[in-house]
Amino acid sequence: MAILLGSIADDYTGASDLANTLTKNGLRTVQTVGIPDPSLALPDVDAVVISLKIRSVPASDAVAAAASAERWLRQRGAGHVLYKICSTFDSTDAGNIGPVTDALSDAADGGIVLVTPAFPETGRTVYLGHLFVGGQPLNESPLKDHPLNPMYDANLVRVLTRQSRNAVGLIDLTTIAAGPGAVKARLDAMRMAGVTTVIADAIFERDLETLGEVALETPVSTGASGLGLGLARALVRSGRIYSGGATTTDAIRPVGGLSAIVAGSCSKATLHQLDIAERSMPVLRLDPERLLAGPDEITAAISWAGDRIAAGPVVIAASAAPETVSRLQSLHGREASGHAIETATSIIAAELVERGVRRLVVAGGETSGAAVDRLAIPAFLIGPEIAPGVPVLRTVGNAQGDMLLALKSGNFGGEDFFTAALAMMH
Ligand code: ADP
Repeated sequence: MAILLGSIADDYTGASDLANTLTKNGLRTVQTVGIPDPSLALPDVDAVVISLKIRSVPASDAVAAAASAERWLRQRGAGHVLYKICSTFDSTDAGNIGPVTDALSDAADGGIVLVTPAFPETGRTVYLGHLFVGGQPLNESPLKDHPLNPMYDANLVRVLTRQSRNAVGLIDLTTIAAGPGAVKARLDAMRMAGVTTVIADAIFERDLETLGEVALETPVSTGASGLGLGLARALVRSGRIYSGGATTTDAIRPVGGLSAIVAGSCSKATLHQLDIAERSMPVLRLDPERLLAGPDEITAAISWAGDRIAAGPVVIAASAAPETVSRLQSLHGREASGHAIETATSIIAAELVERGVRRLVVAGGETSGAAVDRLAIPAFLIGPEIAPGVPVLRTVGNAQGDMLLALKSGNFGGEDFFTAALAMMH
């Protein structure tokens, strides 16, 4: 069955965020981890989100990966491809939003490319081409000090012009508020004047609905989950979706097996969730020093779990309070300690799956990415939401059989997130 909407996401958590938004707005959606192997059999879906890790790699690598993903999506019928970027427009003058957008636009042979990172639900709005994060212009927000992509200019027309070889224009809120007809007329005029890439204002969801309707008639757009919302609602309104009325409940058909929680996030929310979990489940706090010293701590953790897991879910956490984290980082370096602990937690997750875990909750963005890569899960069908931004995921084409997962970014979820997640996974 052909895909109606394709998306290429520049990182894994952004991909999940978009897949969740598309699902909530009526599209049956699969998120793949990388470009799927030809042998992967996908269920019938309206949308596919291909997760890549190309936000901060050299621009030529990002372009090559996005071009392959685009070919995969087009071959399966995608009429429109959304390049999913971060809602804070994370990029540098070298890329990668401009070069990838240019390349996708070339491959799709024309049409205006609408670009907007607006996502009102999370406070990202664009007015007269300027991106606001909550109440602040981008260049006054904490993003100005981002370690990889410092954002020192809130004017996205200027930002994109520095990255793109195409002429960049602006479609302003007044035109967008006048509806799709007015937007199309303005875009036609811009195109005649040689503009091919257009930053679009958007403050309210209705602006994104208008932009989604217009973008659907073009081959490519670039944006955050807000534009995904607009595209999904436009597709639903057009009556073209296949899944008409499909619910997310088939994504949470029981899988059986054992259940476990692995945590590597050291965020305040996760630390509190672990304290709460301790009241109802066995929790093992790993020793980070011993984790870095060798495999013994991993072996001990697996054996600890083995004695308990048949009786109910267990929690294994590397997570620690800021003082402990800084001590480890000052001894071993921030990157090295983070990476070593991600590797350890991913090995623990894989060993647990080996021993029969089929329902797995992972806390931490990087921690989740490392676990999914090690488990070699090819794709996920998006299920219902456990907490804002965190859906239940059902594996697609998984070698170990069907599993249910919840991958939680550190600060997400209420204090009972772990029990709430497991209560939805049977
Ligand atoms: P979040 O979503 O909260 O940012 P991540 O998983 O993305 O969580 O990042 C947490 C990082 O902290 C990971 O690299 C993880 O390996 C690392 N980490 C986990 N436990 C510890 C610890 N005790 N000391 C130092 N770093 C740790």
